[in-house]
Amino acid sequence: MQTNFSLAQLARPDFADSEKILRTCVHCGFCTATCPTYVLLGDELDSPRGRIYQIKDMLERGVPAPAPTVKHLDRCLSCLSCMTTCPSGVHYMHLVDHARTYIEETHSRPLPERLLRDLLATVLPRPWLFRLALMGARLGRPLARFLPGRLKGMVAMAPDSLPAPSDTERPGVFPARGERRARVALLSGCAQPVLAPGINEAAVRLLTRHGVEVVVAEGVGCCGALTHHMGRKASGHDYARAAIRGWMQEIEGEGLDAIVITASGCGTTVKDYGHMFRDDPEMAGPAARVSALAKDVTEVMADLGLMPPTVGTGLTVAYHSACSMQHGQRIHAPPRQLLAAAGFRVVDVPEGHLCCGSAGTYNLLQPELARQLRDRKVANIESLAPDVVATGNIGCMTQIGGGTAVPVIHTVELLDWATGGPRPAGLPDAAAPAEPGLQRAG
Ligand code: SF4
Ligand code: SF4
Repeated sequence: MQTNFSLAQLARPDFADSEKILRTCVHCGFCTATCPTYVLLGDELDSPRGRIYQIKDMLERGVPAPAPTVKHLDRCLSCLSCMTTCPSGVHYMHLVDHARTYIEETHSRPLPERLLRDLLATVLPRPWLFRLALMGARLGRPLARFLPGRLKGMVAMAPDSLPAPSDTERPGVFPARGERRARVALLSGCAQPVLAPGINEAAVRLLTRHGVEVVVAEGVGCCGALTHHMGRKASGHDYARAAIRGWMQEIEGEGLDAIVITASGCGTTVKDYGHMFRDDPEMAGPAARVSALAKDVTEVMADLGLMPPTVGTGLTVAYHSACSMQHGQRIHAPPRQLLAAAGFRVVDVPEGHLCCGSAGTYNLLQPELARQLRDRKVANIESLAPDVVATGNIGCMTQIGGGTAVPVIHTVELLDWATGGPRPAGLPDAAAPAEPGLQRAG
């Protein structure tokens, strides 16, 4: 694709990077067929190729982001299905990240939209505030009908009960069982430990059972993905910077073999820290080191090798590969192979490349499109009549779980159960835990 940026624009690293990306697009349109919003809406402007043209036009002209461009980019899920399909290697993720930042810097959204985004960007990355907000939402449910549209939907989505905070949210060390084979840091995260603390607990049990010492590093909370993908670059970078500093203490201290992440949306972002901080003289090196160590928990377990299962589960698992897992991180075999090694019958969800509509804050900001995608995903899942759905991202769990009675369980919880941990809540015929709870050092 030909571009027409001025020399002044190209002197800016973000524009120079975007120009390089734009030049790789050959307009072939292969990406349109696998784009969820194009599949739903059939509008070229809601396809990857259409969005690339709109981004090019917006950036080249250097004008405040036009409202129609904002509309079509807001509808993009950042699912990155287009990157998997593109034969030309167009790095749509970095391009749309730049476009979203440009929109936030140049476009004034209507006040209710601004307030809603401010609310999400303030609350979701802070577990204590998110917990408080969910408790408030539960109490406020009787008054929900007086709230404006999307806020009403959010209050309705608040879970009936909130699990207690987990030990894995606090800095500390979980020693390896038996001989230590590796030492890793676990990303505790922000929204996930509030909604489903059992995921990180299962990860700690699974890893320590396989001889891995797990540390939750001081000062690491949200990875920054949530606000980064809303175009709030400064906020996303602040969270990321804190995480990098926290992990660097461990890397330079006792050392780390990996940084383990149990939410694939976060994993995609942490693996991109090197790019995010490429122009920051102080952070570029540490960010690249952290990115190089970042791994999804299933990558780490695949390297370690799963111990033989201790229970015969006999369950059929529909594996839902989150977009951030399959398109963002290109992780395909490890989760499926681990589940099979754990004794589950694994089946793939038809139209597996299409997003479920969760996509970070997308299901809150674009509820109608998100609902259509969820219903399509649920229909595909239910066509398999599985016993359980397994996935590696809390957003997908919440989104899909809201539309089906089939239990949706994190992959790591199933692997933990199969190798000696408690049976995950939500599965039928709950049995007593096979081993005691977590053990912290000291
Ligand atoms: S990221 Fe997903 S929704 Fe956005 S253009 Fe690409 S395929 Fe379409
Ligand atoms: S498939 Fe790649 S090269 Fe072709 S239009 Fe889409 S982004 Fe451009």
